[in-house]
Amino acid sequence: MIYTKQEFEKIRKASLFSNLPNIITEQKPLSELKNQEIPDHDKSFVGLKSLSHREFNSTEFWRDIPAFKNVTKDEFLDVKFQNKNTVRNLAKLEEFTKGIVDKSFIEDVRQGIKHAPMNLSISPYLLSLIDWANPYEDPLRIQFIPVQSITKENHPKLMLDSLGEQGDSPVDGLVHRYADKVLFLALDVCPVYCRFCTRSYAVGGDTELVNKMKFNNAPEKWKKAFAYIASRPEIEDVVVSGGDAYMLAPNRLKLIGETLLSIPHIRRIRIATKGPAVMPMKILSDANWSNALIDIVKLGREKGKEVALHTHFNSANEITEITRQAMLHLFKNGVIVRNQSVLIKGVNNTLESMVHLIKKLSYMNVQPYYVYQHDMVEGTEDMRTSVKQTIELEKNVRGITAGFNTPLFVMDAPGGGGKRDVHSCEYYDEVTGISIYRSPSVNEQNIYLYFDPIESLPTLGQKLWEDKTIHDELIKNAIKNSGLSSYTPVLS
Ligand code: SF4
Repeated sequence: MIYTKQEFEKIRKASLFSNLPNIITEQKPLSELKNQEIPDHDKSFVGLKSLSHREFNSTEFWRDIPAFKNVTKDEFLDVKFQNKNTVRNLAKLEEFTKGIVDKSFIEDVRQGIKHAPMNLSISPYLLSLIDWANPYEDPLRIQFIPVQSITKENHPKLMLDSLGEQGDSPVDGLVHRYADKVLFLALDVCPVYCRFCTRSYAVGGDTELVNKMKFNNAPEKWKKAFAYIASRPEIEDVVVSGGDAYMLAPNRLKLIGETLLSIPHIRRIRIATKGPAVMPMKILSDANWSNALIDIVKLGREKGKEVALHTHFNSANEITEITRQAMLHLFKNGVIVRNQSVLIKGVNNTLESMVHLIKKLSYMNVQPYYVYQHDMVEGTEDMRTSVKQTIELEKNVRGITAGFNTPLFVMDAPGGGGKRDVHSCEYYDEVTGISIYRSPSVNEQNIYLYFDPIESLPTLGQKLWEDKTIHDELIKNAIKNSGLSSYTPVLS
């Protein structure tokens, strides 16, 4: 909604901005502005709804949940409480949701777990933010709790290691795809488990669907990866991930940071964690961990190198006043925080939800860096969107705020092509949902194919995929029509 200046004045005086006149009259240097004539401008004032990203829930919201009604603020804000009460199995979820959800929902989860690539693990913080009156449509439930009733059949081209990371791994727990960058997979556990995890082939414990490969979780085993990085002078950039760096003991986090920073050719380190989105109080209540992070950021600065935290908010519903305080603590201590979201149906695939998320992140000095097209991971078909929708969303998002706070919408090209601008596809057939990307910096000869979820296709496209005998032909035709037949398709 857009207001005239007069209407806006009325609202301003009566609401959120009621303290503005005081600020102007009492505080220098703003008091100098008091008698300025403010010229009229054609640009209308935006509605207050457009400014709602500045509001942060500072209530004791967890007390609305019967299981936490007696939990004090001090307890809830303690990371030990969060870890101890993280729900890791169905029985615990049932106990926690007693009286607030229907039994049929729990039964739905029981069946959903059977076909999920990730185990159940969800923090009290997230549990308290889910709308239990409508869990099916809640963006946090969608990300962390599988239900059978909305499961969609996998697209025939979905796979577990859709990015082909294992094929680019010279040493266990290290992915070297781009010449100057490596991904160091330091551990295989996380504070919560996301249903859509790209690394579901390795992260978390085994499920009924997947027997996972294991990463190197111990410093002794990391030595090989460190030695490889030190032996390759072209590497300047290391992403420390897993799993999730939130789960690294402070001394191990420091050991990784100090070792990598001591390698002369390493210029940039990114510590990857979803932690701030799912358990922000750790930053405020686990001083050993936060200080370890801040120390390596400082050490990096002393050496003229950048150490940044890369986090993973997908929904503004993950953000409260606790988050804001946590991000403020990092900001005041010089930690750069960037965000990488995954585009997920029902979570952030509308313009309103994406803009709200971007603005809220920017307001907390968290830079919205990437929005990823959902990877083609088995068991997540209900969460994917089409390339068409992502391109449309990107068009509408660009221009809503400053460019450096506008995320790049990217496709992590399936089979190991790395990140591509989502709209940079060489070819896209909206009927079959096949898009084709090139990634010359990774491999000049390869082409990489992405497949939209079948449900998002027009009726003709859906019918075509019904016939298994023509799947290869659909792909061959797409390649032929793209004019890229002389390239090698990567279909892992
Ligand atoms: S926190 Fe990251 S690594 Fe862990 S399950 Fe979620 S997406 Fe996967």
